[in-house]
Amino acid sequence: MNSSLQLGKIMGIPIRLHWTFLLVIPLIAWSFASISQQGYGMTYGLGSIEPVSLRWTYSLIFAVVLFACVALHELGHSYIAHKNGIIIRSITLYFFGGVSAVEEIPRNPRLELQMAFAGPAVSGVIGLISTLLASLLPESSNAAIMLWTLGLMNIILMVFNLIPAFPMDGGRLLRAWLATRMPYIRATRNAAGIGKIFAILMFVLGLFSFNFMLLFVAFFVYVGASEEEKATEIIVSLEGIKVRDIMSAQVRTIGPDMTLRVLKELMFKEKHRGYPVMTGDEMLGIVTLTDLQSVPDEQLDHTVVEKVMARKLYVIAPVEEASTAMKMMNEKQIRRLPVMDNGRLVGIVSREDLVRALELSSGQDMKR
Ligand SMILES: [Zn+2]
Repeated sequence: MNSSLQLGKIMGIPIRLHWTFLLVIPLIAWSFASISQQGYGMTYGLGSIEPVSLRWTYSLIFAVVLFACVALHELGHSYIAHKNGIIIRSITLYFFGGVSAVEEIPRNPRLELQMAFAGPAVSGVIGLISTLLASLLPESSNAAIMLWTLGLMNIILMVFNLIPAFPMDGGRLLRAWLATRMPYIRATRNAAGIGKIFAILMFVLGLFSFNFMLLFVAFFVYVGASEEEKATEIIVSLEGIKVRDIMSAQVRTIGPDMTLRVLKELMFKEKHRGYPVMTGDEMLGIVTLTDLQSVPDEQLDHTVVEKVMARKLYVIAPVEEASTAMKMMNEKQIRRLPVMDNGRLVGIVSREDLVRALELSSGQDMKR
């Protein structure tokens, strides 16, 4: 990931800055520098700060501080996760806010509730403290204006995140709450459904008020709800299914010196798209249809498998969960995994095997 810059680590979690963030800092600074309104009893926006140079300096600092508040919101989630032994790979700050890369979202509703709540709680506390401090300072002083604006923004951040729709925290809160009284998958479906209704309402509202931002958020929420539903469906459907239950145990292996012409015929005849390459008991690599297609037809007779096969091997044990195999294939962008048991090749599991398992288990789901 070269598109983001690492700022440092907090609680062992790398905090990253996406490049889009740098674009948007001046934009945010500009928008705050051009607003000055009487809002909620006090001046809101930094537009009344004089002279202009000072206004711009303060606005830039303000934009950075605002994003630090977004980072603190994310760290709120991370803190609870960290305390409960859930691994957070990183926190990345994008132009629209922060995203925590969580290794695994907890399936424990109580923990999910706490984790989802912690972020908005942090924003709420910052919002309260800032507005409170602002109200203690002399009105229309620069410090009061900045603190009041910061406080309002944090409260907006809290409210926005509490919208009960994925991928917002409110969606997770809703799901976790529903999951305490129904199966997890149904809770997810219901929460996603409510999220989509919210998205449609926002979209309609955005259309009528010509609010482009709202249309954008509505779209974001709709997609988020659908994705969460799909991802959960897959994980839940594969639950309890082990790699050994779905792998093909009869693995056809080939030698490293088979020519690609012979391999092509073999693939055509057996309708397999990949073969482990072995000498004796040792696995050397895996050769796939894609590797074969990288060689022009006239060279197939003179090229051996060893020349084109992938040597970097990702393998999985037969006792692993099928969902782990799915995750590995997605992460490494591969279609099949050799199944190894104590250094011995016992099978191969492919995307097709996973899809079949999914179809079968969702078929059972319908019967239930
Ligand atoms: Zn959050």
